[in-house]
Amino acid sequence: MENQIFRTVLGDVPVAELGMILPHEHLFTDLRGPDTFDYAQDDPGLVIETMKPYLAAAEDAGVTGLIECSTVGVGRNIEILRRLAEQTRIHIIAPTGIYKEAFTPKSFLHCTVDDLVQLWTEEITQSIEDTPAKAGFIKIAVSDDGPTKLEERNIRAAARASLATGAAIASHTIGGRAVMEEIAFLVDEALSLDKFIWVHAESEDDLSLHRQVADLGIYVEYDFIGQPNQDPLAQVKKVRTMVEHNYGERLLLSHDAGWFQPGRPQGQPEGGMRGYTYISDEFIPLLLANGLDRETVKLLIETNPKRAFAVELTN
Ligand SMILES: [Zn+2]
Repeated sequence: MENQIFRTVLGDVPVAELGMILPHEHLFTDLRGPDTFDYAQDDPGLVIETMKPYLAAAEDAGVTGLIECSTVGVGRNIEILRRLAEQTRIHIIAPTGIYKEAFTPKSFLHCTVDDLVQLWTEEITQSIEDTPAKAGFIKIAVSDDGPTKLEERNIRAAARASLATGAAIASHTIGGRAVMEEIAFLVDEALSLDKFIWVHAESEDDLSLHRQVADLGIYVEYDFIGQPNQDPLAQVKKVRTMVEHNYGERLLLSHDAGWFQPGRPQGQPEGGMRGYTYISDEFIPLLLANGLDRETVKLLIETNPKRAFAVELTN
C-alpha cells in the first residue's frame, strides 16, 4: 500500500493521503475539434478565475482528488491543469490517451499501435509535453456504434501501455454492445480487466449487463450523478442493486461535471456550468436514507477510486 501513488499533475502523492475522489470530471474541455485554430487554448487567468470557486466548493464538500477526463482530442491542456492544481488542495489527475475517431488530431491518424504505446508510456512514466507533469491514467473513447478500426488501435495501445505501467484505462463507451466489443480486444491483449473502467455505464439501461461486466473485474462507472436529466432515486436504486448483488467493489460514482469550454461565452458550456458537490451534498445523504450504510458509501467514494487509479511504484 505504501508504494501506491496517484500520479497527479503536480507530482506523485501517496494514495493514503487522499479521501473522497471523483473519478470522472472535467475542468477544461474543448469540444470544437482538434483542427480548430485555437484548439485547447484560452486565457489561463480567465480559466482560473472561472473554475477556482468550483474547486473551492468541492474542497469544502470533502473532495480530495479529481480525475480530469478531458483527453487528447477534447482539449487536454496540461499547463492550465497545473495552474488550476496550484489553486486548490484537491489533487488533480490528468490522462494520456486519445478521444474517439471523430476527435482525432491529424498527427495521430497514422500512428501505429507501437507509436501510441511508446508515447503513452512516456507520458505516464516521464513527462507530458516536456512539462514536469505525468499522466495518471489512460483515457480513450469509442464511437457509439462500437469501436472503429482506428479505435481498436487505441484500445490495443491502451492495453499495452497499461500492462507496461500499471496505469488504469478509462474508456468513454456508450451502451453494452460497444463495451462488449471493446472488452474482446482487451482480453485479446491479455489485460487484467480490473485495470479497465467502463465510463458512462449508465448509458446502458439493461442492468444485467452492468453485472455481467462487473463480473469480469471491470469497474462500472455511474457518472451521470447530479445531471439535470437524471432521476436521483432511480440512480440510488441502481447503486443499491449493484451493492445487493455484491458488486459494490466494482462501482464508481461521479458527476461528469464542469467545465470551462473555449469558444463559448465566458467559457460556459452548453446548459451552464455544473459543479462538483452534488454527490457530497445530495447523493450521499440519499444513499444513506435509502438503506446504504456509511461503510458502503466509503467503499464507493474512496476505496474504489483509490484501488482503480492507484499506480504501483516499482523503482
Ligand atoms: Zn466526461
